[in-house]
Amino acid sequence: MKTMTCRQLGGPCDLAHHGESADDVINAQDQHLKQVVKEGDEAHREARQEMKFRWLHPKKSLGWYNDMKLTFADLPSD
Ligand SMILES: [Zn+2]
Repeated sequence: MKTMTCRQLGGPCDLAHHGESADDVINAQDQHLKQVVKEGDEAHREARQEMKFRWLHPKKSLGWYNDMKLTFADLPSD
């Protein structure tokens, strides 16, 4: 397992996500963004919009995914 924070994934807080792959932590971040924005958190709204854009435009967002995968690969295991 490795850990990436909301902030490392483009969000505004230090909540830690744990996963076996970059996709795991990206999905966890997506759920986190949906949840807190639904609860009225304004600080996460922009990150939520960016994440939505990435799902809608995966080709334009490949650079971001590759960055996240590289960051994840470089992390030490928990
Ligand atoms: Zn957050």
